[in-house]
Amino acid sequence: MDKKLLEILVCPLCKGKLLLKKQELICKFDRLAFPIHDDIPVMLEHEARVISLEEKDEL
Ligand SMILES: [Zn+2]
Repeated sequence: MDKKLLEILVCPLCKGKLLLKKQELICKFDRLAFPIHDDIPVMLEHEARVISLEEKDEL
C-alpha cells in the first residue's frame, strides 16, 4: 500500500491514526480493523472487523 496514502488516512470514527498490519488498517482506540481490497482501504465501519483485546495487545 502507498505510504503517502497511509499517512493521510485516519479512522472514520475517532479520526485517529491507523496501524497497517498485513492487509488491514487498525484503529487501536476503537478496536476495529478496516480491510484493504486490491490496495484500496475500505474505511467503512460496517466493513470493519472488531479485534479482540488479545489481538490488540499484540499490536
Ligand atoms: Zn478509531
